[in-house]
Amino acid sequence: MSNNPWGRAKAHLKNAIKYFPVSPLLEAQLLNPDRIVQISIPIKMDNGGVRVFEGLRVQHNNARGPYKGGIRYHEKVDMDEIKALSFWMTFKSAVVNVPFGGAKGGIVVNPKELSEGELERLSRGYVAKLYKLFGPELDVPAPDVNTNGKIMAWMLDEYEKLTGARSPATFTGKPIMQGGSEGREEATGFGGSVVLKKILESKIGGVSAGATVAIQGFGNVASHFADTTKNLGLKIVAVLDSKGGIYNPGGLNISKVELHKKETGAVKGFAGASDTTNEELLELPVDILVPAALENVLTGDNAGKVKAKLVIEMANGPTTLEADEIFDKTGVVVVPDILANSGGVATSYFEWYQNMHGEKWAKKEVLNKLTSLMESAFDAVNEAKISYGTTFRTAAYIVALERIAAAGNDKA
Ligand code: NAD
Repeated sequence: MSNNPWGRAKAHLKNAIKYFPVSPLLEAQLLNPDRIVQISIPIKMDNGGVRVFEGLRVQHNNARGPYKGGIRYHEKVDMDEIKALSFWMTFKSAVVNVPFGGAKGGIVVNPKELSEGELERLSRGYVAKLYKLFGPELDVPAPDVNTNGKIMAWMLDEYEKLTGARSPATFTGKPIMQGGSEGREEATGFGGSVVLKKILESKIGGVSAGATVAIQGFGNVASHFADTTKNLGLKIVAVLDSKGGIYNPGGLNISKVELHKKETGAVKGFAGASDTTNEELLELPVDILVPAALENVLTGDNAGKVKAKLVIEMANGPTTLEADEIFDKTGVVVVPDILANSGGVATSYFEWYQNMHGEKWAKKEVLNKLTSLMESAFDAVNEAKISYGTTFRTAAYIVALERIAAAGNDKA
């Protein structure tokens, strides 16, 4: 059960309700997404044949604002995963205090097997089936694993063709030329490094400057997190992508790793580092471990072997309930996803706001505003952690729950 992200999301909520009781009605609303949609998307393949793909969209809750959440392309996408991710969006938007609710979508596909033309037809097909549910005040999709600005631009174009109206605020994570925001690309990783800076300043987890870091992942979130933590005086010793990882206890030059990945398509084989596996990376003798790829990677099987003192969840849902219990016992401090990676949705809000008001902010302005939102989110969660005597995860849920309950004037 705990490896099922939706079961875990519900367990997190029930745990937070013990500290911050809400009405049975609100509890039922949060345990049951508002709307669940499953679609089929038949598309013409380049070889003249037809393939049918399964698409999903879950709108979890909109008490605090329009439904908001990314669209994931992955062969393992399933309904419980998307339900959990939509739930986490509701809570994440509340933790970072932007006026959005939560949603998530996905297509069961390995996009690397499709040509550019097939990928475009699939992305447009997803919108053609769901566009009536989308809109700047209804539901605002964004990129997630294996989707990006180019896909958002196709989706927005399809949406505008079908509705006959210009509506850039309906999708975020767009390329700058199509109404995207400066700073959105690096926002999630940057936001995580703002939280990490606060942690280092507060000496939480006994980690200070000079600490070593292992990062699982080297996609959008992981690579920008690595880039923006460079000036925190930390040493990044390991990174990994789906083809394997690299480790150098003396530290990696991240700009050079990025170049190597650009040239070869993988981090593996980087000169001056040894290859490492997924399993090994999670158990390396480092101070800070940063899961930044997929969910369920820290489990009852490996949590006891984690040597890091601090886990920063840049991915969504990387830690199972069993792993959380073990970390509680072994004293590993976990900074939860709904706080650590909330810089993405915060900057999506900035993008949405600029589109709605016809404004264009400079990158510096975006990142300054993001820094201030992330610092406030961290302070609110840290205060709740101290006053309720809980873990960071439960404290983040309490903060979000308080805000969601207040939006609906809920009385327990
Ligand atoms: P991405 O597609 O850019 O990168 C995913 C990374 O995971 C890549 O490095 C890939 O190689 C790696 N990966 C994929 N399958 C793997 C496997 N089986 N084993 C090991 N590594 C594997 O995606 P992203 O946008 O960087 O998202 C990463 C995580 O962050 C996800 O959990 C996502 O939901 C979460 N997240 C993303 C954002 C955002 O703004 N992009 C915001 C909040 C949370």
